[in-house]
Amino acid sequence: MADDCLFCRIVAGEIPATVVREDELTLAFRDLNPVAPTHVLVVPKAHYPDVGSLAAGDPAALTAVHLAAAAIAQADGVAAGGWRLVFNTGRDAGQSVPHVHGHVLGGRHFGWPPG
Ligand code: AMP
Repeated sequence: MADDCLFCRIVAGEIPATVVREDELTLAFRDLNPVAPTHVLVVPKAHYPDVGSLAAGDPAALTAVHLAAAAIAQADGVAAGGWRLVFNTGRDAGQSVPHVHGHVLGGRHFGWPPG
Protein backbone atom coordinates (compact mmCIF):
# COMPACT_ATOMS: atom_id res chain seq x y z
CA MET A 1 0.00 0.00 0.00
CA ALA A 2 1.20 3.50 -0.83
CA ASP A 3 0.26 5.75 2.11
CA ASP A 4 -0.44 8.80 -0.02
CA CYS A 5 -2.51 6.93 -2.63
CA LEU A 6 -6.25 7.67 -2.71
CA PHE A 7 -7.24 4.28 -4.14
CA CYS A 8 -4.95 2.37 -1.75
CA ARG A 9 -6.75 4.16 1.06
CA ILE A 10 -10.14 3.15 -0.38
CA VAL A 11 -8.92 -0.46 -0.63
CA ALA A 12 -7.81 -0.25 3.01
CA GLY A 13 -11.24 1.06 4.06
CA GLU A 14 -9.79 4.37 5.26
CA ILE A 15 -11.85 6.41 2.77
CA PRO A 16 -15.50 5.49 2.10
CA ALA A 17 -16.64 4.37 -1.33
CA THR A 18 -19.70 2.72 -2.81
CA VAL A 19 -18.22 -0.73 -3.27
CA VAL A 20 -20.05 -2.92 -5.79
CA ARG A 21 -17.71 -5.91 -5.98
CA GLU A 22 -14.68 -7.34 -4.25
CA ASP A 23 -12.54 -10.40 -4.71
CA GLU A 24 -9.11 -11.50 -3.60
CA LEU A 25 -7.27 -9.30 -6.08
CA THR A 26 -9.63 -6.45 -6.94
CA LEU A 27 -12.03 -3.88 -5.55
CA ALA A 28 -14.71 -2.07 -7.58
CA PHE A 29 -16.59 1.05 -6.54
CA ARG A 30 -18.79 3.66 -8.18
CA ASP A 31 -17.05 6.75 -9.57
CA LEU A 32 -17.77 9.92 -7.55
CA ASN A 33 -18.40 11.88 -10.74
CA PRO A 34 -20.12 9.46 -13.12
CA VAL A 35 -20.11 10.22 -16.83
CA ALA A 36 -22.51 7.40 -17.71
CA PRO A 37 -25.38 5.56 -15.96
CA THR A 38 -22.90 2.80 -15.15
CA HIS A 39 -19.51 4.20 -14.14
CA VAL A 40 -17.55 1.89 -11.89
CA LEU A 41 -13.82 1.91 -11.17
CA VAL A 42 -12.05 -1.45 -10.87
CA VAL A 43 -8.68 -1.42 -9.15
CA PRO A 44 -6.19 -4.09 -8.18
CA LYS A 45 -5.75 -4.16 -4.42
CA ALA A 46 -1.98 -3.98 -4.87
CA HIS A 47 -0.54 -0.63 -5.87
CA TYR A 48 0.56 -0.29 -9.49
CA PRO A 49 0.62 3.17 -11.07
CA ASP A 50 -0.73 2.22 -14.49
CA VAL A 51 -1.96 -0.63 -16.64
CA GLY A 52 1.45 -1.36 -18.17
CA SER A 53 3.13 -1.80 -14.80
CA LEU A 54 0.23 -4.00 -13.66
CA ALA A 55 0.54 -6.21 -16.75
CA ALA A 56 4.28 -6.59 -16.20
CA GLY A 57 4.11 -7.02 -12.43
CA ASP A 58 0.96 -9.07 -11.82
CA PRO A 59 -0.73 -10.55 -14.92
CA ALA A 60 -3.18 -12.48 -12.71
CA ALA A 61 -4.41 -9.23 -11.19
CA LEU A 62 -4.71 -7.67 -14.66
CA THR A 63 -6.89 -10.60 -15.70
CA ALA A 64 -8.88 -10.30 -12.48
CA VAL A 65 -9.57 -6.62 -13.23
CA HIS A 66 -10.98 -7.59 -16.65
CA LEU A 67 -13.09 -10.41 -15.22
CA ALA A 68 -14.43 -8.04 -12.56
CA ALA A 69 -15.29 -5.47 -15.24
CA ALA A 70 -17.28 -8.05 -17.21
CA ALA A 71 -19.09 -9.21 -14.07
CA ILE A 72 -19.99 -5.62 -13.18
CA ALA A 73 -21.35 -4.95 -16.68
CA GLN A 74 -23.49 -8.08 -16.31
CA ALA A 75 -24.68 -7.15 -12.81
CA ASP A 76 -25.50 -3.57 -13.83
CA GLY A 77 -27.54 -4.79 -16.81
CA VAL A 78 -25.37 -3.21 -19.52
CA ALA A 79 -23.64 -6.30 -20.87
CA ALA A 80 -26.14 -6.91 -23.66
CA GLY A 81 -26.26 -3.29 -24.82
CA GLY A 82 -22.51 -2.83 -24.74
CA TRP A 83 -20.00 -1.24 -22.46
CA ARG A 84 -16.53 0.22 -22.45
CA LEU A 85 -13.44 -0.44 -20.31
CA VAL A 86 -11.04 2.52 -20.23
CA PHE A 87 -7.60 2.77 -18.64
CA ASN A 88 -6.51 6.39 -18.81
CA THR A 89 -2.72 6.26 -18.72
CA GLY A 90 -0.56 9.30 -18.13
CA ARG A 91 -1.01 13.03 -18.51
CA ASP A 92 -2.25 13.25 -22.08
CA ALA A 93 -4.96 10.68 -21.35
CA GLY A 94 -6.05 12.60 -18.27
CA GLN A 95 -5.07 10.04 -15.63
CA SER A 96 -5.59 11.86 -12.35
CA VAL A 97 -5.10 9.03 -9.83
CA PRO A 98 -1.79 7.14 -10.16
CA HIS A 99 -3.19 3.77 -9.02
CA VAL A 100 -4.30 1.80 -12.08
CA HIS A 101 -8.08 1.74 -12.50
CA GLY A 102 -10.36 0.56 -15.25
CA HIS A 103 -13.43 2.69 -15.86
CA VAL A 104 -16.42 0.42 -16.58
CA LEU A 105 -18.81 2.60 -18.58
CA GLY A 106 -22.25 1.66 -19.84
CA GLY A 107 -25.89 2.57 -20.12
CA ARG A 108 -25.60 5.05 -22.97
CA HIS A 109 -24.10 5.27 -26.46
CA PHE A 110 -20.40 6.19 -26.69
CA GLY A 111 -18.98 7.72 -29.83
CA TRP A 112 -15.72 6.81 -31.54
CA PRO A 113 -13.13 8.19 -31.58
CA PRO A 114 -13.38 9.47 -28.01
CA GLY A 115 -13.25 13.25 -27.61
P1 AMP B 1 -8.73 9.13 -14.11
O1 AMP B 1 -8.98 10.57 -14.47
O2 AMP B 1 -8.78 8.18 -15.25
O3 AMP B 1 -7.46 9.00 -13.28
O4 AMP B 1 -9.95 8.71 -13.19
C1 AMP B 1 -10.02 8.99 -11.83
C2 AMP B 1 -11.46 8.87 -11.45
O5 AMP B 1 -11.55 8.77 -10.05
C3 AMP B 1 -12.32 10.08 -11.84
O6 AMP B 1 -13.34 9.64 -12.74
C4 AMP B 1 -12.87 10.58 -10.51
O7 AMP B 1 -14.21 11.03 -10.61
C5 AMP B 1 -12.75 9.36 -9.64
N1 AMP B 1 -12.62 9.59 -8.21
C6 AMP B 1 -11.81 10.47 -7.58
N2 AMP B 1 -11.93 10.35 -6.25
C7 AMP B 1 -12.84 9.37 -6.03
C8 AMP B 1 -13.39 8.77 -4.85
N3 AMP B 1 -13.03 9.15 -3.62
N4 AMP B 1 -14.32 7.79 -5.00
C9 AMP B 1 -14.70 7.40 -6.24
N5 AMP B 1 -14.20 7.91 -7.38
C10 AMP B 1 -13.29 8.89 -7.28
